[in-house]
Amino acid sequence: MKVVVTLEELRAARRTLPDPLGLVPTMGFLHEGHLSLVRRARNECVSVAASIFVNPTQFGPDEDLDAYPRNLDRDLSLLEAEGVDLVWTPTDEMMYPQGFQTWVTVDELAGVLEGAQRPGHFRGVTTVVAKLFNAFQPQRAYFGQKDAQQAAVIKRMARDLDFLLEVVVCPTVREPDGVAMSSRNSYFDETQRKAAGMLYQALSRAAEAFAAGERDAETLRRLMSETLATEKLARPEYVSVADPDTLEELSGPIERALLSMAVFIGKIRLIDNMLLGDGA
Ligand code: AMP
Repeated sequence: MKVVVTLEELRAARRTLPDPLGLVPTMGFLHEGHLSLVRRARNECVSVAASIFVNPTQFGPDEDLDAYPRNLDRDLSLLEAEGVDLVWTPTDEMMYPQGFQTWVTVDELAGVLEGAQRPGHFRGVTTVVAKLFNAFQPQRAYFGQKDAQQAAVIKRMARDLDFLLEVVVCPTVREPDGVAMSSRNSYFDETQRKAAGMLYQALSRAAEAFAAGERDAETLRRLMSETLATEKLARPEYVSVADPDTLEELSGPIERALLSMAVFIGKIRLIDNMLLGDGA
């Protein structure tokens, strides 16, 4: 496995890798969720590359950029064990050199849900992902359903800007109690970690009601909110039943939906989601 830091090294190393190349962009502190993307890429592509970059432009001023967990040595040995061919670990200055002033933005799709709560977040995501696509020139890029809106926004960007690649979205990998794996779970103490299970319980309660025939969007939203309210440590920021394609909030009877939520447990903000109906 080759590990490179500069863009020039990356481009030279990329040229030696046979197509199709699968790219797995990450912010590091890898867990089984990340590794599931790497394994999928390894199965589907001749070459596999990953990036490890804690992207400062997708963090708001009051968010956890400085505290974000990092362990590069461990990440590299995990990637090597999965048979990854190439890893790029650029510095902030390489990604955003002096004078940087060009941004990629997606409008409506990035303006709701996470985008409404975290202004500028998706501008940071789409800009860095566009740069990664240009640098690696992958034929496929792998993202997690865990960040459902991010996957939708990146798909939209790839289509709108004619990136010649396929965006592959992989299922959310969960802990035994249903908590979606996340680098941020490492912040929790034991009580908070238990409380984090309530997001999955709330999503499951609505999914079970849907499976039993409940179709009213408002009722599904209420079931999730009521379930979250049983956990004192959980402070919901939003609870959403949205159209899976447009991410517009739904009302009345639904056929398919993206259930999603952002919930604070202490100072830690968690997101999770589940798809209902076709495509779930
Ligand atoms: P991050 O390092 O948080 O930027 O995540 C890198 C990629 O891994 C993104 O495409 C995430 O959606 C994906 N990912 C993170 N957690 C999970 C998970 N629990 N299951 C599946 N994919 C995940």
